[in-house]
This record gives sequence, C-alpha cells and structure tokens, in this order.
Amino acid sequence: MISTEKPSGTSLPFPVSNAGLNRQLAGLAPEGNVVLANATLVIEGRLSPGDIGISGGKFAFIGSAPETPIDWPRIDLADRLCLPGFVDPHTHLDKGHLIGRAGAGDGTLETAIDLVSKDRVDNWSREDVSTRMAFGLACAHHYGTAALRTHIDSQPDQFEISWDVFEHLRDHWRDRLALHGSSLFSIVFARDAAFIDMVARRVARAGGSLGAVTFPLPDLDALLDTMFRAADRYGLSLDFHADETSDAASDTLSRIAAACLRHGMKGKVVAGHCCSLALQDALERDRTLELVAEAGIGLICLPACNLYLQDRRFDGTTPRWRGVTAFKEARARGIDVALGSDNIRDPFHPFGDLDMLETLGLGVRALHLDSPVSAWVDAVTVKPASMLGIDAGKIAVGQRADFTIFEGRDFTEVLARREPDRIVMRDGRAINAALPSYRELDGPFEHR
Ligand SMILES: [Zn+2]
Repeated sequence: MISTEKPSGTSLPFPVSNAGLNRQLAGLAPEGNVVLANATLVIEGRLSPGDIGISGGKFAFIGSAPETPIDWPRIDLADRLCLPGFVDPHTHLDKGHLIGRAGAGDGTLETAIDLVSKDRVDNWSREDVSTRMAFGLACAHHYGTAALRTHIDSQPDQFEISWDVFEHLRDHWRDRLALHGSSLFSIVFARDAAFIDMVARRVARAGGSLGAVTFPLPDLDALLDTMFRAADRYGLSLDFHADETSDAASDTLSRIAAACLRHGMKGKVVAGHCCSLALQDALERDRTLELVAEAGIGLICLPACNLYLQDRRFDGTTPRWRGVTAFKEARARGIDVALGSDNIRDPFHPFGDLDMLETLGLGVRALHLDSPVSAWVDAVTVKPASMLGIDAGKIAVGQRADFTIFEGRDFTEVLARREPDRIVMRDGRAINAALPSYRELDGPFEHR
C-alpha cells in the first residue's frame, strides 16, 4: 500500500487497483472539490507531471497549485496518464452492427456500398436505425468519447426517418455525449437542387452539417456549387467524403477547396479520407494542400477503413500501400488534421467498437504518429472538437471535467494494453458505464 507523500490536504488511501480508484472517483460528490494528484498530462504535445483540481464538476486548476485549499481531499493517481474526453469527428452510427444481416462483402468500397444500400432499403425502419445507433453511442461513451459526429444516410426515402432518430438520441444523450450529425449521399443527388434544399432544411433543424460523397464527375463543380449554396442559405457547415480511392486522378479535394473559396465559406468545411492525395505527384499535392490551407478545410483520416478497403487485391498478393492521406504534410502546412473511427461492424469495416484509443493506435501505426505520440493527441481531442465547432477535448481550467484516466503512465503502456478498465470521468466523476452486450442486437434486427 502506497500513500500520497504530499503533506497538504486530507489524504485518501491510495487504491492499488483501477477498480478501487474507480470506486473512489464514482463516489465523489457532484458539487465537491478534489485534487487528483500526480497525474501525467499532455501539455503542449508533451507528457508532463501535474495535479488536476476539480470543483463542482469542472477543472479548477491544472498543474501544481500551491494556493489549493488545504482541506481539499487528495487522491494520488500514481502517474496515471489522463487524456481529455475523446472527440470522434467521423462515424456512421446508422450503419453500425449490420454486418450479420448485410454480409461482409469482399472488402471493397463498391461492394460495401451495394450491400448497405440494399440493407437500407429493406430494413432501416425507425426501430432498426435507433437500436443500432444507440448501441454505438453506448460503446463510444464507455470508451471515453465525449463528442461524436455521425454521418447519416440521407437518401430521399431515408432522411426523415434517420434524422428523427438522430434528434431523439442526441437529446437522450445530451448530458453524457454531444452528438453531431452530417447528411450523407452521393454528390450526384445534388443534380436535384430541390432535394438538396429539402435535406439542408432538415439538417439545419437538427443543427447538423451538410455532407456528400465526392468523386470525379464532369459536372462536379456545379454540384458542389449547389451544395455550398444550400449550406450558405441555411447557415450550415459542410463535411465531405472525398477521394476514397487509390486513383491519383481523383482530385475532388482541390475542387472542394476551390468551391469553398468561391463561396466565401472559409473554415466551414471538413473533408474525410482524401486517400488519393497521398498518391498524387508532389507538385499536384502541394497545390491541393495550398488551396486546402487557404480555405481552412480540416482533414480527417480514417485509418481503420483505409487499411481495410484500400489496395484490396484478388490475385493472392498483399496490399502495397496503407491507404491513408498525406496527414503529416497537411499538418506541416498548418491544416487541422484529425482521426476518426468511421465504420463499425458493417461491410465497409467489419470490426471496431468506436474506441478512439484504438483509432489513435491505428493512426500511430499507419501514419507513424510516434514522434512522439503525445504530439498527436490533439488529432483525437481538440482538433476534431474545433472541426465540430465545439469547445471540448481539453483538460483546461473552467472546462467540464470530462477526461479519461489510464493505468498506464505513457503511450507504450497505454497503447499496449488498450485498457478496457480505463476510468472515464464525466463532470468530475467516474461514469462506470458498461459496454452493451452484442445479444442486445439479436432478434428482429440481426440475422445470425
Ligand atoms: Zn465515412
């Protein structure tokens, strides 16, 4: 048994196990004060020792605070790593967990699109969508995600159902997890300006973002103009799935950036995937990144789906490239970059559980974000928060005390074990939210 060596305050006994610490942290009074001493924090991209003061569910001080009232109870974290609540900027809750029903496909984007489209037409009732989305939210919450954007399939026969479900879940989860939404359909739907206007109006009512999948088309610029005009009309930000392909000729990211500048919507656009950017020649990539930087577009890399879908081969050979965008080049130009979970247990990606620690770990391996890892924590916290337009993803004075405590003291320890028993704090208290059981998805929603 180790006790705190700090002389001030009322020392609580140091709990050896995470379970013991969890019990203490779950039992804190909501309006009370506490010092979590000897934490390891990420400060300006580096691991740094420090204390965390919490008062009334908010961060009261970070680092050493000699002026801390002497009667605040202290709990020794023994150098445990503390990270801000994760912000996941790109998911598809409405497609989640339909793998058992829709089938796994052949690991290509094209087949995944076909399988999910068929499943959507056949099965996506209010109850079906709601059950699977709620399951995903419970997983994300369990792992420490504090805010999340889901794309929502918004084809003509689906968008009213799914956006109603979205609003219901967003309100239900409001105090635990901030849920954001973005529409999703092929950019060819923008050939019907009346449809885009109808979706944009619905999205605006739900406080969402207007999004579509872009790929090269002769009339792409005109289609983007329709999207940007609708977004401008309803005060919406935009979120594109761009260039999810190994075809270096796919240049829709630069077209999006040009449209963004043409419509005066700097800083209101994010783009996910952008795989082909990594395969373009250096001159073209530089030109695109320059436009993206000028337009203030945030880039979101989805390492799980990129690794799974890109460079899929059927000749018995092994994939030769990792499928991920030019992440480091983008950040070197001052472009905001973030990581997202993307698809979970569906034909686009049959695995995953909306755990942003896993996403960070995949990013570290696929993108070599280990220079050091702490320098890239903002890609799963404060950068995606800013892309969602929210003030979150920070351990900072005055913020809600939403953060996660890991038993590991650095990233070699934390990423090695993934820590299913990590302690998730909301408003300064441990939440102890169990993972939902897959059996909750049995019955009418999932064929086995
Ligand atoms: Zn996606």
